[in-house]
Amino acid sequence: MKNSIIPCNVIIDMLPLYKEKICSDETKELVEEHLRSCENCRQLYEELSLPAPKNETAPSEAETFKKVGKKLNRAKFYRRSLILILAVIALINAAWLKLKFFPYKDFSFGMIEYDTDEGKLYQELNGNYYYNVNFPNYLDFFSGKLYVWKSGNYIDNKVTELRIMPRVTGDVKYAVTIMTDSCVYGIPITKSLEFDPSGYKVHDNDEKMKQLIIENRAEIEELMNAAQKKWGEYL
Ligand SMILES: [Zn+2]
Repeated sequence: MKNSIIPCNVIIDMLPLYKEKICSDETKELVEEHLRSCENCRQLYEELSLPAPKNETAPSEAETFKKVGKKLNRAKFYRRSLILILAVIALINAAWLKLKFFPYKDFSFGMIEYDTDEGKLYQELNGNYYYNVNFPNYLDFFSGKLYVWKSGNYIDNKVTELRIMPRVTGDVKYAVTIMTDSCVYGIPITKSLEFDPSGYKVHDNDEKMKQLIIENRAEIEELMNAAQKKWGEYL
């Protein structure tokens, strides 16, 4: 008998091929013949033919799903991050336009434009006063300043230059720059021409600054009025 010639082990080796129908007709016949007469191999074949237990396929499906899900989540995360970044940039841009660009556009209206190392400078001689606008740099909330000085006010016994800066950042609304032979003083002042140390470090020379305000009070007042006249509605 043929089945006695072919050992079970050989048939068992061929069972997967037979099951998948990827064996030759000869092999098929041999296997079928053997299975008809061999209870053990038949049982083995039947077990092999049972649908694979669920817990073998389920995790792989779940895993695939998980992987796809992870990829989708990552894509979603990147997309959301990008949208968030763009929104923040748009917001900063809008804030800069509102707080810096448009006001400075108004401050410099009708003035002559100069390109300097520190960006765009707008200047105008109006009556006795030079009006200057240092235009703020793009997206820079701390750059940009205004100042006024009096035409021809460069030579004096003590003060070689005095200029006023309205709209200084922070709480300080005005500052006056007084240039003496030895030093340049940037002095924060209130609208009523008092020394205003708020937001500034208190210096050793506070008394000197107060003294300079008193000495130059008339001129500071004059420049402050000029600034008010020019930009008052914005200050
Ligand atoms: Zn057998």
